[in-house]
Amino acid sequence: MTKSDFQPLERLTLKHHYADLGPVFGTPVQPTPLQNPHTIHVNPAVLALLGIAPQEAQNPDWALLGSGARLFRGSVPFSMKYTGHQFGSYNPELGDGRALLLGEIERDGKHWDLHLKGAGQTPYSRFGDGRAVLRSTIREYLAGEALTALGIRSTRALCIVGSREPVAREKLETGAALIRVARSHIRFGHFEYLFYTRQLDAQHKLVEFVCAQFLPEVADKSVQEQAEALLRFTVKRSAELVAGWQSVGFAHGVLNTDNMSIIGDSFDFGPYGFLDDYEPGFICNHSDHTGRYAFDAQPGVVLWNLNALAHAFSSLLDIETLKDCLGQYQPLLIECYAGLMRRKLGLATEDDGDQQLCADLMTLLESGQVDYSLFFRALSRYFGERPATSLEELVSPSQHGALGNWLSRYDQRLQKERQSPEERCRNMLRTNPKFVLRNYLAQRVIEAAESGDFQPLHTFFDLLQTPFEEHPGFETWAAAPSESGKHLPISCSS
Ligand code: AMP
Ligand code: MG
Repeated sequence: MTKSDFQPLERLTLKHHYADLGPVFGTPVQPTPLQNPHTIHVNPAVLALLGIAPQEAQNPDWALLGSGARLFRGSVPFSMKYTGHQFGSYNPELGDGRALLLGEIERDGKHWDLHLKGAGQTPYSRFGDGRAVLRSTIREYLAGEALTALGIRSTRALCIVGSREPVAREKLETGAALIRVARSHIRFGHFEYLFYTRQLDAQHKLVEFVCAQFLPEVADKSVQEQAEALLRFTVKRSAELVAGWQSVGFAHGVLNTDNMSIIGDSFDFGPYGFLDDYEPGFICNHSDHTGRYAFDAQPGVVLWNLNALAHAFSSLLDIETLKDCLGQYQPLLIECYAGLMRRKLGLATEDDGDQQLCADLMTLLESGQVDYSLFFRALSRYFGERPATSLEELVSPSQHGALGNWLSRYDQRLQKERQSPEERCRNMLRTNPKFVLRNYLAQRVIEAAESGDFQPLHTFFDLLQTPFEEHPGFETWAAAPSESGKHLPISCSS
């Protein structure tokens, strides 16, 4: 099939390569359909990615497909087995407890997994009901789009469906589901499971499975060489991922190893948050009492997770190789983060003082309680004017002097650039978003949806897919929260 060929939904046929790996890797399970489902949204960008014709967004079958009442042709629904470290402790009982891998789509030489989240109980449900609620489903749906639009690897979703089925969380909510789409649903925890249960042949098979998809250049190599290539790949992808999160102000919230994708996608969204004020210690998960997953703890905790993954690879690689692979993480992260922050600052060239300039700005933003995204957006329109009113408005008055000093250094640094100020500002406006998935806005969308109004969801979804555009008339969606809208308690139940 060529890129231009779009097919109707009814001809879409899934493969089931993962399910074919065998019973060690999970259990075939039929979804338990949600009752009276209705389609809430179909994602046109993901339709295009999968080669499904755009007019299929109107197809009434999404309600059935998204609720699990009907299966795609060729689908072999499969609950994947994995384990993982949750808040630092190993949990051997995990697996897809409420989601099913429906199968894979091949398009332009790439595989896309389709994964139905909220599909009912599985052998790995433990005490859970197998459901997802509307609130968390909307949050996951929006997060995938917001991060993707910001250039950060993420799982996305094809569609979202709702129902009137009551689902008990802290209060009674309604059941919903989404079809998650990703190049892979294999987690660090998949490898931990096979390692801790000493199923080493299966572990080799999984290494080969992932390499065949993402590292074809090592396909003919020994399993040890493949394992090393894979670990290096995951370390690199994870470093790039965290650099991206830190640069846009995203806190994942639950960075357990079962929520870490082997290909470095942002994965399994729970009580995540984008920063409003620049607050490095921001904890978005209210059950994270120690701040293990605080915003500024993410680089360290992802390295912790990579160590756990490397330990699972110790059946295949010697300690020196493992250390060497892990050793790539920090320099890659620093380089990648520095590059992203340089772009945010509009610096096309590199200079020795850039990191300090950036670090000093972060200190200023922190002490001035400055909105992170609004500041960079305003800086994208800065031409050296004094007073820098639009920036000063964002900074508490006690910090205006410090801001002025920093801007003078920034002015000097900009003189070393060859690009014109206009070009710099144009690039910065394409890097620093106007529209950010702020918690208080997500909450607004969720509350409307819970009362049956999905228009705000549609609006916000479109804005987040194109967050660098001005969208005149939608200013309220670009505003920082009032004091009471900051630090809204976000339930970690989902
Ligand atoms: P999460 O916190 O969503 O990353 O989930 C952690 C583990 O709990 C995974 O194995 C999930 O499949 C499982 N899980 C979460 N919520 C439910 C639920 N409502 N029913 C069954 N299993 C669940
Ligand atoms: Mg999870």
